[in-house]
Amino acid sequence: MIDSLQQLSNAPLPFQGLVVFTFGLLVGSFANVCIYRMPQEKSVVFPGSHCTSCQTPIRLFDNIPILSYLILGGKCRHCKAGISWIYPFIELITAVLLTAGFFQFGWSWKFAIFFILGPALVIITAIDIEHRIIPNLITLPGMLFGLAGGIYLEGLWPSVIGFISGAGLFLFIGEVYYRLRGEIGMGMGDVKYIAGAGALLGWQKTFLVIFIAAFLGSIVGLVGMLDQRLNGMSQIPFGPFLAAGTLVAFFWGDELIFLYLRSMM
Ligand SMILES: [Zn+2]
Repeated sequence: MIDSLQQLSNAPLPFQGLVVFTFGLLVGSFANVCIYRMPQEKSVVFPGSHCTSCQTPIRLFDNIPILSYLILGGKCRHCKAGISWIYPFIELITAVLLTAGFFQFGWSWKFAIFFILGPALVIITAIDIEHRIIPNLITLPGMLFGLAGGIYLEGLWPSVIGFISGAGLFLFIGEVYYRLRGEIGMGMGDVKYIAGAGALLGWQKTFLVIFIAAFLGSIVGLVGMLDQRLNGMSQIPFGPFLAAGTLVAFFWGDELIFLYLRSMM
C-alpha cells in the first residue's frame, strides 16, 4: 500500500489526479449506500447493493459508478424502474471533491483527513436534506475523528476549545430560539456536528464555519420566504450549510482569517 502510493506519487500529476478521481467515484458509490441505509439503521456493509424497486441484487458489472448508470439508461436491468440521477451525481461530486482535495493538499495527512471528511460532508448534506437529521452514526465517530485530526492539524487547545465553543454556542442559540419561538430550531444533530467540525478546525475556523453557514442559510431562507414555498427558517435543514462552511474553512480557512484580521488593523 505505502509502496504503491510512493510509486504513484512519482507518476505525472494529471495521472495521479485521475487515479484519485477514479477512486473517488468508488468512495462516492459507498457514500450512496450510506445515504440510503444509515437513516434506516441498516448495515452499510451487508448485504450488497440491490435494486430499491425489485430488490434484485445488482451485479458488480452493473454497479460501476456513473458508467453503469449511463449504459443502463438510468433504469434497473431487471424491472426497468428508474434510478434517480442523485446516485451518479453523488458519485461525481464525491470524486470531484476528493480530486480537489488532492490538488490542494497533495499526499499529506491533511489529504488523508479530507479523504474521510469530504465524503462525510456529502453524506451529511444528502441525509439532512432528505430526512432532516444528521445521524449519530456519523456525528459520534465524527467528534472523535475531529478531535484526533484537529489535535494533529491545529494543536491540542485550539481543537478542544473549538469543540467546546462550537457545541456551547449552538446549545445557547438553540435555547434562545426555543424560549423566543417555543419550538426547537437547533437539532442535537447540528450541535454534535459543530462539536466535531469545531474540534477538527480549531476555534477560529469554527466561527468561520458558523458565519458562512448562517450567511448561506439566510440567503436561502430569504429566497424561500419570497418564493412562499418555505414557511420560515425552521423548515430548512442547517446541515448542508454547515457542510459548505466546513468545506470552505478546511480549504481556505487560514487564508480567510488572515485576510479578516489584516482588514481589522
Ligand atoms: Zn429493479
